[in-house]
Amino acid sequence: MLEEILDKIKNKKFNWADARHFLNYDNEDWDSFFNKIGSYRFNILNEPKTLKIYTPGKTFPSISVTGSQCDLNCQHCDRKYLSNMLQAETEEKFKDALNYCIDHNSVGALISGGCTSYGKVPIEKYKEIIQDFKKKNKNFYLNSHVGLISYSEARSLKESGIDTVSFDLNLDPKVIQDVFNLDFKIEDYIRSYDALLEAGLRVIPHILIGARFGKIARELDAIKVLNQNQPELLVFIGMIPPRKNGKMDPNFKLISPESIAKFILISKIFLPSTVLSLGCMRPKGKFSFDLERWSILSGASHIVMPCKQTIEWVKKENFEIEYYNACCVIPSEFEPYAKALDTRGTLEYPDLMRRKHL
Ligand code: SF4
Repeated sequence: MLEEILDKIKNKKFNWADARHFLNYDNEDWDSFFNKIGSYRFNILNEPKTLKIYTPGKTFPSISVTGSQCDLNCQHCDRKYLSNMLQAETEEKFKDALNYCIDHNSVGALISGGCTSYGKVPIEKYKEIIQDFKKKNKNFYLNSHVGLISYSEARSLKESGIDTVSFDLNLDPKVIQDVFNLDFKIEDYIRSYDALLEAGLRVIPHILIGARFGKIARELDAIKVLNQNQPELLVFIGMIPPRKNGKMDPNFKLISPESIAKFILISKIFLPSTVLSLGCMRPKGKFSFDLERWSILSGASHIVMPCKQTIEWVKKENFEIEYYNACCVIPSEFEPYAKALDTRGTLEYPDLMRRKHL
Protein backbone atom coordinates (compact mmCIF):
# COMPACT_ATOMS: atom_id res chain seq x y z
CA MET A 1 0.00 0.00 0.00
CA LEU A 2 2.62 2.49 1.10
CA GLU A 3 4.82 1.62 -1.91
CA GLU A 4 1.97 2.73 -4.13
CA ILE A 5 1.71 6.03 -2.22
CA LEU A 6 5.45 6.51 -2.54
CA ASP A 7 5.29 5.94 -6.31
CA LYS A 8 2.42 8.37 -6.69
CA ILE A 9 4.35 11.01 -4.75
CA LYS A 10 7.47 10.47 -6.85
CA ASN A 11 5.47 10.60 -10.10
CA LYS A 12 3.51 13.65 -8.93
CA LYS A 13 0.24 11.71 -9.18
CA PHE A 14 -0.75 11.95 -5.52
CA ASN A 15 -4.22 13.56 -5.40
CA TRP A 16 -6.75 14.53 -2.71
CA ALA A 17 -8.42 11.11 -2.86
CA ASP A 18 -5.02 9.47 -2.26
CA ALA A 19 -4.51 11.82 0.66
CA ARG A 20 -7.81 10.73 2.20
CA HIS A 21 -6.92 7.00 1.75
CA PHE A 22 -3.43 7.58 3.09
CA LEU A 23 -4.87 9.09 6.27
CA ASN A 24 -6.87 5.92 6.84
CA TYR A 25 -3.91 3.54 6.48
CA ASP A 26 -3.12 1.92 9.76
CA ASN A 27 -0.66 -0.61 11.17
CA GLU A 28 1.94 -0.03 8.50
CA ASP A 29 5.71 0.07 8.78
CA TRP A 30 5.77 3.81 9.29
CA ASP A 31 9.42 4.03 10.17
CA SER A 32 10.49 2.49 6.88
CA PHE A 33 7.98 4.64 4.95
CA PHE A 34 9.06 7.97 6.44
CA ASN A 35 12.71 7.02 6.04
CA LYS A 36 12.06 6.45 2.33
CA ILE A 37 10.31 9.82 2.10
CA GLY A 38 13.30 11.49 3.76
CA SER A 39 15.77 9.76 1.52
CA TYR A 40 13.73 10.77 -1.57
CA ARG A 41 13.59 14.41 -0.44
CA PHE A 42 17.19 14.79 0.68
CA ASN A 43 19.07 12.37 -1.63
CA ILE A 44 17.08 12.48 -4.87
CA LEU A 45 15.44 15.93 -4.83
CA ASN A 46 18.43 17.40 -2.96
CA GLU A 47 16.23 19.43 -0.64
CA PRO A 48 18.36 21.23 1.97
CA LYS A 49 18.69 19.51 5.34
CA THR A 50 17.92 22.47 7.57
CA LEU A 51 16.07 22.66 10.84
CA LYS A 52 15.07 25.64 12.95
CA ILE A 53 14.54 24.78 16.60
CA TYR A 54 12.40 27.10 18.75
CA THR A 55 12.39 27.39 22.52
CA PRO A 56 10.00 30.14 23.65
CA GLY A 57 10.98 30.53 27.30
CA LYS A 58 11.53 33.69 29.36
CA THR A 59 12.79 35.43 26.23
CA PHE A 60 9.39 34.92 24.59
CA PRO A 61 6.80 34.42 27.34
CA SER A 62 3.04 34.01 27.00
CA ILE A 63 0.72 36.59 28.49
CA SER A 64 -2.90 35.82 29.30
CA VAL A 65 -5.14 38.88 28.93
CA THR A 66 -7.86 37.09 30.92
CA GLY A 67 -5.61 35.67 33.64
CA SER A 68 -6.73 32.12 34.35
CA GLN A 69 -10.33 32.84 33.33
CA CYS A 70 -12.07 31.49 30.23
CA ASP A 71 -15.79 31.48 29.42
CA LEU A 72 -15.48 28.44 27.16
CA ASN A 73 -13.60 25.92 29.27
CA CYS A 74 -12.95 24.00 26.08
CA GLN A 75 -11.45 20.54 26.08
CA HIS A 76 -8.50 21.64 23.95
CA CYS A 77 -6.90 24.01 26.43
CA ASP A 78 -8.91 22.92 29.49
CA ARG A 79 -7.57 26.14 31.14
CA LYS A 80 -4.42 24.18 32.00
CA TYR A 81 -2.18 26.56 30.02
CA LEU A 82 -3.66 29.84 31.19
CA SER A 83 -2.37 29.67 34.76
CA ASN A 84 1.22 29.18 33.52
CA MET A 85 1.12 32.39 31.49
CA LEU A 86 1.92 35.87 32.81
CA GLN A 87 -1.39 36.95 34.35
CA ALA A 88 -2.68 40.15 32.79
CA GLU A 89 -6.40 40.45 33.34
CA THR A 90 -6.17 44.13 34.29
CA GLU A 91 -4.45 47.06 32.56
CA GLU A 92 -2.01 47.34 35.43
CA LYS A 93 -1.10 43.68 35.26
CA PHE A 94 -0.78 43.82 31.47
CA LYS A 95 1.70 46.71 31.77
CA ASP A 96 3.55 44.75 34.47
CA ALA A 97 3.73 41.71 32.16
CA LEU A 98 5.21 43.78 29.33
CA ASN A 99 7.68 45.40 31.70
CA TYR A 100 8.59 41.90 33.01
CA CYS A 101 9.49 41.01 29.40
CA ILE A 102 11.80 44.03 29.26
CA ASP A 103 13.41 43.10 32.59
CA HIS A 104 14.06 39.56 31.35
CA ASN A 105 15.60 40.63 28.05
CA SER A 106 12.71 39.11 26.11
CA VAL A 107 12.68 39.54 22.35
CA GLY A 108 8.92 39.16 22.04
CA ALA A 109 5.83 37.64 23.59
CA LEU A 110 2.71 35.69 22.77
CA ILE A 111 -0.40 37.61 23.76
CA SER A 112 -3.06 35.04 24.39
CA GLY A 113 -5.66 34.18 26.99
CA GLY A 114 -9.01 32.62 27.60
CA CYS A 115 -12.00 33.25 25.35
CA THR A 116 -15.28 35.04 25.73
CA SER A 117 -18.41 32.99 25.05
CA TYR A 118 -18.15 34.34 21.47
CA GLY A 119 -14.80 32.62 20.97
CA LYS A 120 -12.76 35.84 21.11
CA VAL A 121 -9.58 36.47 23.06
CA PRO A 122 -10.19 40.05 24.30
CA ILE A 123 -6.88 41.61 23.30
CA GLU A 124 -8.48 44.72 21.87
CA LYS A 125 -9.11 46.10 25.37
CA TYR A 126 -5.35 46.77 25.57
CA LYS A 127 -5.02 48.39 22.16
CA GLU A 128 -3.63 51.71 23.47
CA ILE A 129 -1.14 50.00 25.79
CA ILE A 130 0.10 47.77 22.95
CA GLN A 131 0.40 50.80 20.66
CA ASP A 132 2.38 52.68 23.26
CA PHE A 133 4.62 49.69 23.96
CA LYS A 134 5.28 49.06 20.27
CA LYS A 135 6.16 52.75 19.75
CA LYS A 136 8.87 52.35 22.39
CA ASN A 137 9.92 48.84 21.30
CA LYS A 138 9.52 48.60 17.53
CA ASN A 139 11.50 45.40 17.22
CA PHE A 140 9.88 43.59 20.11
CA TYR A 141 7.85 40.85 18.40
CA LEU A 142 4.22 40.33 19.31
CA ASN A 143 2.53 37.10 18.31
CA SER A 144 -1.11 36.71 19.32
CA HIS A 145 -4.10 34.41 19.67
CA VAL A 146 -7.28 36.28 18.88
CA GLY A 147 -9.90 33.60 18.19
CA LEU A 148 -12.93 34.52 16.12
CA ILE A 149 -12.84 38.09 14.91
CA SER A 150 -14.71 40.56 12.71
CA TYR A 151 -13.11 42.70 10.02
CA SER A 152 -13.37 45.88 12.12
CA GLU A 153 -11.76 44.13 15.11
CA ALA A 154 -9.02 42.83 12.84
CA ARG A 155 -8.41 46.37 11.57
CA SER A 156 -8.17 47.62 15.11
CA LEU A 157 -5.72 44.83 15.94
CA LYS A 158 -3.60 45.83 12.97
CA GLU A 159 -3.57 49.43 14.24
CA SER A 160 -2.40 48.23 17.65
CA GLY A 161 0.88 47.09 16.13
CA ILE A 162 0.52 43.33 16.75
CA ASP A 163 2.98 41.61 14.41
CA THR A 164 1.42 38.19 13.86
CA VAL A 165 -1.79 36.36 14.54
CA SER A 166 -1.57 32.61 15.11
CA PHE A 167 -4.99 31.39 14.02
CA ASP A 168 -6.47 27.92 14.66
CA LEU A 169 -8.13 27.05 11.37
CA ASN A 170 -10.68 24.65 12.71
CA LEU A 171 -13.12 23.42 10.07
CA ASP A 172 -14.91 20.61 11.86
CA PRO A 173 -18.46 21.51 13.03
CA LYS A 174 -18.45 18.71 15.62
CA VAL A 175 -15.19 19.98 17.11
CA ILE A 176 -16.48 23.56 17.19
CA GLN A 177 -19.61 22.44 19.09
CA ASP A 178 -18.43 19.56 21.25
CA VAL A 179 -14.75 20.29 21.93
CA PHE A 180 -14.58 24.10 21.79
CA ASN A 181 -18.10 24.50 23.20
CA LEU A 182 -18.90 27.18 20.63
CA ASP A 183 -22.15 27.78 18.81
CA PHE A 184 -20.49 28.73 15.53
CA LYS A 185 -20.02 27.31 12.07
CA ILE A 186 -16.98 26.57 9.96
CA GLU A 187 -17.88 29.63 7.86
CA ASP A 188 -17.25 31.79 10.95
CA TYR A 189 -13.69 30.45 11.13
CA ILE A 190 -13.11 31.07 7.41
CA ARG A 191 -14.62 34.55 7.72
CA SER A 192 -12.33 35.37 10.66
CA TYR A 193 -9.27 34.06 8.82
CA ASP A 194 -10.17 36.13 5.75
CA ALA A 195 -10.89 39.21 7.90
CA LEU A 196 -7.43 39.00 9.46
CA LEU A 197 -5.80 38.69 6.04
CA GLU A 198 -7.88 41.50 4.58
CA ALA A 199 -6.92 43.75 7.48
CA GLY A 200 -3.32 43.29 6.36
CA LEU A 201 -2.19 41.26 9.34
CA ARG A 202 0.44 38.56 9.10
CA VAL A 203 -1.63 35.46 9.82
CA ILE A 204 -0.10 32.06 10.46
CA PRO A 205 -2.68 29.27 10.42
CA HIS A 206 -2.38 26.46 12.96
CA ILE A 207 -4.08 23.10 12.35
CA LEU A 208 -4.95 21.04 15.39
CA ILE A 209 -4.60 17.34 14.55
CA GLY A 210 -6.92 14.94 16.35
CA ALA A 211 -9.21 17.70 17.60
CA ARG A 212 -12.24 15.39 17.37
CA PHE A 213 -11.53 13.51 20.58
CA GLY A 214 -8.21 12.26 19.23
CA LYS A 215 -9.62 11.01 15.91
CA ILE A 216 -8.74 12.26 12.46
CA ALA A 217 -11.81 13.91 10.94
CA ARG A 218 -11.87 17.15 8.92
CA GLU A 219 -8.28 18.36 9.18
CA LEU A 220 -7.73 17.74 5.47
CA ASP A 221 -10.41 20.34 4.69
CA ALA A 222 -8.22 23.00 6.28
CA ILE A 223 -5.31 22.05 3.99
CA LYS A 224 -7.71 22.19 1.01
CA VAL A 225 -8.78 25.72 1.96
CA LEU A 226 -5.16 26.81 2.36
CA ASN A 227 -4.28 25.24 -0.99
CA GLN A 228 -6.22 28.06 -2.69
CA ASN A 229 -4.06 30.74 -1.08
CA GLN A 230 -0.92 29.16 0.33
CA PRO A 231 0.33 30.70 3.57
CA GLU A 232 4.03 31.44 4.06
CA LEU A 233 4.04 29.17 7.12
CA LEU A 234 1.69 26.55 8.54
CA VAL A 235 1.91 25.20 12.08
CA PHE A 236 0.70 21.76 13.16
CA ILE A 237 -0.29 21.12 16.73
CA GLY A 238 -1.74 17.95 18.25
CA MET A 239 -4.70 17.39 20.54
CA ILE A 240 -3.61 16.82 24.12
CA PRO A 241 -6.46 14.93 25.78
CA PRO A 242 -7.84 16.62 28.89
CA ARG A 243 -7.33 14.84 32.20
CA LYS A 244 -9.95 13.97 34.76
CA ASN A 245 -8.94 13.00 38.28
CA GLY A 246 -5.36 12.57 37.15
CA LYS A 247 -6.30 10.27 34.25
CA MET A 248 -6.75 10.86 30.55
CA ASP A 249 -10.41 11.62 29.75
CA PRO A 250 -11.77 8.24 28.47
CA ASN A 251 -13.75 10.02 25.73
CA PHE A 252 -10.44 10.87 24.08
CA LYS A 253 -7.77 8.79 22.45
CA LEU A 254 -4.18 9.79 22.00
CA ILE A 255 -3.28 10.63 18.41
CA SER A 256 -0.62 8.45 16.85
CA PRO A 257 2.76 9.96 15.86
CA GLU A 258 2.20 9.00 12.21
CA SER A 259 -1.06 11.00 12.08
CA ILE A 260 0.75 14.31 12.43
CA ALA A 261 3.59 13.26 10.11
CA LYS A 262 1.03 12.22 7.47
CA PHE A 263 -0.52 15.72 7.51
CA ILE A 264 2.91 17.28 7.22
CA LEU A 265 3.66 15.12 4.18
CA ILE A 266 0.29 15.94 2.59
CA SER A 267 0.94 19.66 3.17
CA LYS A 268 4.40 19.36 1.69
CA ILE A 269 2.76 18.04 -1.49
CA PHE A 270 -0.24 20.36 -1.73
CA LEU A 271 1.33 23.52 -0.23
CA PRO A 272 4.77 23.41 -1.83
CA SER A 273 5.61 27.04 -1.11
CA THR A 274 4.62 26.87 2.57
CA VAL A 275 7.14 26.37 5.38
CA LEU A 276 5.88 23.71 7.81
CA SER A 277 6.29 23.78 11.56
CA LEU A 278 5.67 21.24 14.30
CA GLY A 279 4.30 23.53 17.00
CA CYS A 280 4.53 23.47 20.77
CA MET A 281 1.14 22.11 21.74
CA ARG A 282 1.33 18.40 21.07
CA PRO A 283 1.27 15.28 23.19
CA LYS A 284 4.66 14.28 24.48
CA GLY A 285 5.87 10.92 25.67
CA LYS A 286 7.92 7.97 24.57
CA PHE A 287 6.54 8.37 21.04
CA SER A 288 7.98 11.94 20.78
CA PHE A 289 11.09 10.84 18.93
CA ASP A 290 9.08 9.03 16.24
CA LEU A 291 6.64 11.92 15.93
CA GLU A 292 9.39 14.52 15.61
CA ARG A 293 11.69 12.50 13.34
CA TRP A 294 8.88 11.43 10.98
CA SER A 295 7.60 15.02 10.86
CA ILE A 296 11.05 16.30 9.91
CA LEU A 297 11.48 13.57 7.27
CA SER A 298 8.06 14.50 5.86
CA GLY A 299 8.77 18.21 5.52
CA ALA A 300 8.72 20.10 8.83
CA SER A 301 11.65 22.52 8.85
CA HIS A 302 10.60 24.28 12.07
CA ILE A 303 10.11 22.47 15.35
CA VAL A 304 9.31 23.67 18.85
CA MET A 305 11.09 22.09 21.81
CA PRO A 306 12.11 18.74 20.32
CA CYS A 307 13.25 15.99 22.66
CA LYS A 308 16.95 15.35 23.27
CA GLN A 309 16.94 12.24 21.10
CA THR A 310 15.66 14.22 18.11
CA ILE A 311 18.36 16.87 18.54
CA GLU A 312 21.01 14.13 18.65
CA TRP A 313 19.50 12.49 15.57
CA VAL A 314 19.43 15.70 13.46
CA LYS A 315 23.03 16.38 14.43
CA LYS A 316 24.02 12.85 13.43
CA GLU A 317 22.15 13.26 10.15
CA ASN A 318 24.11 16.46 9.44
CA PHE A 319 21.19 18.84 9.41
CA GLU A 320 22.13 22.49 9.51
CA ILE A 321 20.54 23.62 12.77
CA GLU A 322 19.56 27.10 13.94
CA TYR A 323 18.18 27.84 17.40
CA TYR A 324 15.70 30.56 18.27
CA ASN A 325 14.30 31.67 21.61
CA ALA A 326 10.89 32.53 20.26
CA CYS A 327 7.59 31.31 18.94
CA CYS A 328 7.96 29.27 15.76
CA VAL A 329 6.21 31.91 13.64
CA ILE A 330 8.80 34.68 13.72
CA PRO A 331 9.67 35.98 10.23
CA SER A 332 13.21 35.86 8.84
CA GLU A 333 13.83 39.60 9.33
CA PHE A 334 13.32 39.15 13.06
CA GLU A 335 15.54 36.07 13.40
CA PRO A 336 18.79 37.85 14.38
CA TYR A 337 17.11 39.20 17.54
CA ALA A 338 15.93 35.76 18.65
CA LYS A 339 18.92 33.70 17.53
CA ALA A 340 20.20 31.50 20.34
CA LEU A 341 23.26 29.40 20.97
CA ASP A 342 21.24 26.28 21.78
CA THR A 343 17.99 25.29 23.48
CA ARG A 344 19.10 26.58 26.89
CA GLY A 345 18.04 30.15 26.25
CA THR A 346 21.24 32.13 25.70
CA LEU A 347 20.71 34.69 22.96
CA GLU A 348 23.48 34.91 20.38
CA TYR A 349 23.25 38.72 20.19
CA PRO A 350 21.71 39.80 23.54
CA ASP A 351 22.39 43.51 22.97
CA LEU A 352 20.94 43.76 19.49
CA MET A 353 17.59 44.97 20.74
CA ARG A 354 17.17 48.12 22.83
CA ARG A 355 14.24 47.59 25.14
CA LYS A 356 12.25 50.25 26.96
CA HIS A 357 9.79 49.99 29.83
CA LEU A 358 6.30 51.33 29.43
S1 SF4 B 1 2.84 26.60 17.97
FE1 SF4 B 1 4.54 28.00 17.56
S2 SF4 B 1 3.52 29.99 17.27
FE2 SF4 B 1 1.97 28.67 18.14
S3 SF4 B 1 2.17 29.11 20.34
FE3 SF4 B 1 3.52 27.35 19.94
S4 SF4 B 1 5.53 28.20 19.54
FE4 SF4 B 1 4.06 29.88 19.44
